[in-house]
Amino acid sequence: MKLVFATHNQNKLKEVRALMPKHIEVVSLTDINWHAEIDETSDTIEGNALLKAQTVFQKTNMPCFADDSGLLVNALNGAPGVYSARYGGEQKNDHDNIHRLLHELQHTTQRDAHFKTVMALVLNNKSYVFEGIVNGQITTEKIGTNGFGYDPVFLPQGSLKTFAEMSAEEKNAMSHRAIALKKMTDFLSAM
Ligand code: IMP
Repeated sequence: MKLVFATHNQNKLKEVRALMPKHIEVVSLTDINWHAEIDETSDTIEGNALLKAQTVFQKTNMPCFADDSGLLVNALNGAPGVYSARYGGEQKNDHDNIHRLLHELQHTTQRDAHFKTVMALVLNNKSYVFEGIVNGQITTEKIGTNGFGYDPVFLPQGSLKTFAEMSAEEKNAMSHRAIALKKMTDFLSAM
C-alpha cells in the first residue's frame, strides 16, 4: 500500500519510513508533486492534523496521514499549544519562541508541561487519530544544543537530560511523535 505523508519535512519522512511496516510505502507531498500550502486554520492540534490529512485525501484520493504537534504549559492554560511554532512572532523562530516562553514563566514555579502530537490518518474515506504525549517540566534556562523548537527548555519526566541534551535516538525512543507514530503503525500492521 502507498501512503501519503502530508509533509515536505525530510527529517520527519525519514523517521516515519524507518518505523513503518514493510508493506507500506510512504511518499511525501514533494514526491507526489504537491506544492500548494495547506493553511493550518484550526484552533486545535487535532483539528490541524485532520485538516491536512483530509485536504490531501480529497484532492488526491490517496490514503494519507498528517501530523501536528505543540507544547502545552499548565501555568499558561495550555499555551503555546497549537500556536507553538509562532509563539514568539510570525517569523516562527525557535529562539524567539523560547524567549517568550521563559519570559511568561519568569515569576512562577509551576512549570509542568507536555508535548503532544496528533497523527491523523484518512483511509477508505474514514478518519482516525492517534495521540502521543510526553509529560515534563520547563527549565528556567536553555540547556543543550541538539534537536529543535523547545527542546532546550523541556525536561521530560524522570529524565536528567533535556530533549536538547539527548541524541536523536534517545529522543526518538520517548518522544510524543514516536508514541503517536507507534500507535498508527500498530494499527496499520494489524490491518
Ligand atoms: P509541528 O506541528 O510538528 O510542526 O510542531 C509545531 C511546533 O511545535 C514546532 O515548530 C516546535 O516549535 C514545537 N515542537 C513540536 N515538536 C517538538 C519537539 O519534539 N521538540 C521541540 N519543539 C517541538
